[in-house]
Amino acid sequence: MNPLLKVSGLQVSYGHIAAVKGIDLELHEGQITTLVGANGAGKSTTLLALSGLVPKAAGTVVFDGEDVSRLAPHKIVSKGIVQVAEGRAILTTMTVRENLELGAYTRRDKGGVAADLDRVFELFPRLKERLDGMAGNLSGGEQQMLAIGRALMARPRLLLLDEPSMGLAPIIVQEIFRILREINRQGLTIFLVEQNVRQALKIAHRGYVIETGGIALAGSGRELLGDRRLVEAYLGG
Ligand code: ATP
Repeated sequence: MNPLLKVSGLQVSYGHIAAVKGIDLELHEGQITTLVGANGAGKSTTLLALSGLVPKAAGTVVFDGEDVSRLAPHKIVSKGIVQVAEGRAILTTMTVRENLELGAYTRRDKGGVAADLDRVFELFPRLKERLDGMAGNLSGGEQQMLAIGRALMARPRLLLLDEPSMGLAPIIVQEIFRILREINRQGLTIFLVEQNVRQALKIAHRGYVIETGGIALAGSGRELLGDRRLVEAYLGG
């Protein structure tokens, strides 16, 4: 089966610093794929390059058979590649409802938007309870849920997440990962960038380990969780 998204030879530099040094990866439709690695390994840069938010020094990105390597960020979103931002990036002085509506602002299918809003409420009942409250008054976990909900309102075909577990208590991380699994079960393809290696590999069909800008290991989530090198390097022996 052809991958939904295929990255070949991706390179990204910040001035003289080569942050991503020619990586290849494939995301398959209906799967959760994770990219894990340490601080500064190049995870965020890879995601930013897929979203068109940093320029690629080399390499191609093919999405559903179409070369999207040189498209502007908004064009990439319109193809269905939607990123949930790191640090959550919700609009704190707007209400929960306004944040969610913003996710759907390019859509004209009012019925579809209403149906997706209901779906977001099913996934995140807390957001429905807080609908007219300021997003800035939500807890960290709720803000992360809102950021995911907002991305879902764009009706993505591929959801990109940059460290959704960052700064959250373990029990909230479990909840976020449970919901990602649920969203995936409903059919959405997910690319998850994480430093929380164990949790990410547990929910992922496939995983890649990135080290100093290159892919060091790849395999199924289960294989990687059992890989001695990975366990020693990332999971504390
Ligand atoms: P983190 O978990 O800390 O976000 P990461 O794996 O996502 O780490 P990147 O943020 O992609 O890593 O960073 C990869 C490399 O590029 C690092 O050496 C980092 O210092 C460097 N880098 C990232 N952003 C910039 C920037 N705007 N300007 C210069 N160098 C940068």
